[in-house]
Amino acid sequence: MKAGILAIGTELLMGQTVNTNAAYLSRELTSLGIGSYYHFTIGDNPDRIKKAILELLDTCDVIITTGGLGPTLDDISKEVIADALNLKMVLDERSLSIIKERFIMFNRTMPESNVRQAYFPEGAIILDNAKGTAPACIVEISESDQCIIVLPGPPREMAHIYDTYIKNYLTQKNATKMHSVYLSVYDYGESAVEEKLIDLIEGQTNPTVATYAGDGKVLLRVTASGDDAQKNIDDVNGFVDIIKNRIGNYIVSEKGEDIDRVIISLLKEKRQKIAFVESCTGGKLVSSLIKHSGASDVVDSGIVTYSNEAKMRDVNVSHDTLQTFGAVSHQTCYEMVKGLITKTGVDIGISITGVAGPNGGTTEKPVGLVYIGIAVGGDIYTFENKFSGDREMIQNRTVYKALKLLYD
Ligand code: ATP
Ligand code: MG
Repeated sequence: MKAGILAIGTELLMGQTVNTNAAYLSRELTSLGIGSYYHFTIGDNPDRIKKAILELLDTCDVIITTGGLGPTLDDISKEVIADALNLKMVLDERSLSIIKERFIMFNRTMPESNVRQAYFPEGAIILDNAKGTAPACIVEISESDQCIIVLPGPPREMAHIYDTYIKNYLTQKNATKMHSVYLSVYDYGESAVEEKLIDLIEGQTNPTVATYAGDGKVLLRVTASGDDAQKNIDDVNGFVDIIKNRIGNYIVSEKGEDIDRVIISLLKEKRQKIAFVESCTGGKLVSSLIKHSGASDVVDSGIVTYSNEAKMRDVNVSHDTLQTFGAVSHQTCYEMVKGLITKTGVDIGISITGVAGPNGGTTEKPVGLVYIGIAVGGDIYTFENKFSGDREMIQNRTVYKALKLLYD
């Protein structure tokens, strides 16, 4: 499906207001797998708005307009759309009474000009606006299966109506024409993923494969489009199988979920409790799980043992080990997780100790050297890692690596 976004308002052209609505809508459309083909910005001028609408109708399945739904004379979006489609404007009594009630609620008398907000192009689907007076609407053009979605200008109102109605509407409209699957890839960089899948990413027009990198994860979107819904599903599944054959070890979700969520679900399923003892990540690992509701079912505790004293006092690391091998070592990491398990009695324990930098690195133990320990089912494993980046990146990479090790 192709979309065009038409932002209406002279203040946008004058640079007084930044067109955040178009950015917001395009991001949302992308997440639904709908491509934004055009961003138009037009002032409050009926001829140019009409011209833009007609031009967008040439190529787009969906047009979304924002702005120009207010009560003032320069707010003309609906009238112009009706004109472009040769539709009459008709009064919607229900909208009118809602608008009136809103004024009563705020103890004001409704100016006559607000009646205009209750007029819509004939046949439009009317969408109530809980955050403002101007109702939005969808005008469907049944012959061509196109639609014009008419939203208010204020970003808060626009986003509210998008979330409440439009997202679902577009998802359904899009469903028969395309099918997408989202794969969450961890512990494998975007360029490495692209290298493995280059033939699928570059050579193909249907299905298509796109990558989005961010926050330790590479999200892969596989999309097939066409009128035959079952064929779309089959085509996508075929591609997903090929991708799984090549990088299956790094895929943690086929629903686009983040790894922290996946881990919580897995632990819940297995009814296992987990505890953490962290040094250089300062609690980031445990909070990556606790930020989700439902974590209380699986997370027992998180201890931050930053100093050597804390490592000895709280998880029983021996003075000797710290003296002989140092805080950043397999041995300390091992004793940390062992002490954690003894103390908490949980099913799974994780320990982290490393050099997050930027200071404190040595040639023997450079910045980015991090040990991750896992205790599970009576066994303890420790893993040595070398991460690059600044302090925050090293911490984040450690967290994602630990979650990935846990997942495996
Ligand atoms: P109102 O009832 O407030 O008049 P409206 O639907 O007529 O709403 P506009 O008058 O076009 O919308 O815009 C109202 C305000 O919303 C603008 O002053 C501006 O601050 C903001 N706005 C409008 N369009 C955009 C946009 N594309 N991006 C960001 N903000 C916008
Ligand atoms: Mg206005």
